[in-house]
Amino acid sequence: MVERRKTRQVRIGGVKIGGGAPVALQTMTAGRTHEVDNCIAEIQKLARAGADLIRVAVPEKRDTEALPHILAASPVPIIADVHFHYQRALEAVAAGVHKIRLNPGNIQDRRQVDRVIAACKERGIPIRVGVNEGSVVERKDREARVAEKAALDKDYRAGLVRLMLARLDEYLRIFDENDFHDVVISAKSIDPRIVIDACTAISRRYDYPLHLGVTHAGPPETGRIRSIAALATLLAGGIGDTIRISYAADPLYEVEDGKELLCCLGLRSRTEPELIACPTCGRIQVDLLKLVTEVRQRLTAEIRLPMKVAVMGCVVNGPGECEGADVAIFAGNGKGIIYVQGEQKQTVPEAQMLAALLEECRALAARVERGQARLLGASVDIRPPNPPPRRNDTLPLPALS
Ligand code: SF4
Repeated sequence: MVERRKTRQVRIGGVKIGGGAPVALQTMTAGRTHEVDNCIAEIQKLARAGADLIRVAVPEKRDTEALPHILAASPVPIIADVHFHYQRALEAVAAGVHKIRLNPGNIQDRRQVDRVIAACKERGIPIRVGVNEGSVVERKDREARVAEKAALDKDYRAGLVRLMLARLDEYLRIFDENDFHDVVISAKSIDPRIVIDACTAISRRYDYPLHLGVTHAGPPETGRIRSIAALATLLAGGIGDTIRISYAADPLYEVEDGKELLCCLGLRSRTEPELIACPTCGRIQVDLLKLVTEVRQRLTAEIRLPMKVAVMGCVVNGPGECEGADVAIFAGNGKGIIYVQGEQKQTVPEAQMLAALLEECRALAARVERGQARLLGASVDIRPPNPPPRRNDTLPLPALS
């Protein structure tokens, strides 16, 4: 990972964005904001899952009227998502919301944008300025619209990035003229390549913090790859101060995947178990996939520590591939050998592998909690057989005790 890009810092309630602060993870509620109890329950669920910031849509007055109740009950800062109606932004600011997401291109009149900026300035509330793929083509001036569309027809990707930057320059001039700099920028598209190009170009031109996301990415099954392709590329290049993964699904998936992405890139400390599992191959001699699924479910439910657990199909490549695991099981020939921080603990028949592995995980967690052990403190230290066994060979496991 390269060094993270230096940006200005803005504060969203108690969460800092940019200026060296940890990359903040955000999501958006899927339910209606004015259904206060449901909205609060959803916010609490997403915050428990790891969201640092949560955005709510406020299309109607009854949504902004619900904000005081929601803000009072929310464990994390709340962002109001405003489109078209500048009054909703003013009402959200008056309610004490922590940030506004506003697309100046969606607001009819420049004076209305100025009023929102003035209200945010007075209360120290940041504004995210978005230039999304769907909203950058000129809407009001017919001639300009035709010209922009023609340019896009020639080279859509490059043309769109140019258009996003031009629109952003235009919007940011409004903020500059109001001497308002509590700004976060986003440039979203459904195409990860456009997101990468646009955010890279923006990061060279402005030092405002960047909110990363791929918009309308679809369900997790397909949206996951689309989103991670863009976000991982940018984050690994030091670009991005807050992220939102957008799925057509329960936003809980957005938080889970966003958290995993940040942990994988070393941008967030893990607080829950990490599972390493072999992909399986023709050497497999136990039902490993079933075991992996069960281990994952039980670890998530039972262990509240960032314990690294490895479930390997054999000892051929297993030891190297699960280097550093706290607890590891190497299966083969209907048996499994369990190691805990490098020490061989048990050899059990296949039917007992899940129970025995969990027993060792629980025992290690208890020792860690008592201060008698620390996690990730030792590596699995066994040597693979040499030469490796051929298919159908019996793996050199010790006899069952
Ligand atoms: Fe195959 Fe063994 Fe590697 Fe699993 S650990 S993929 S069973 S060689």
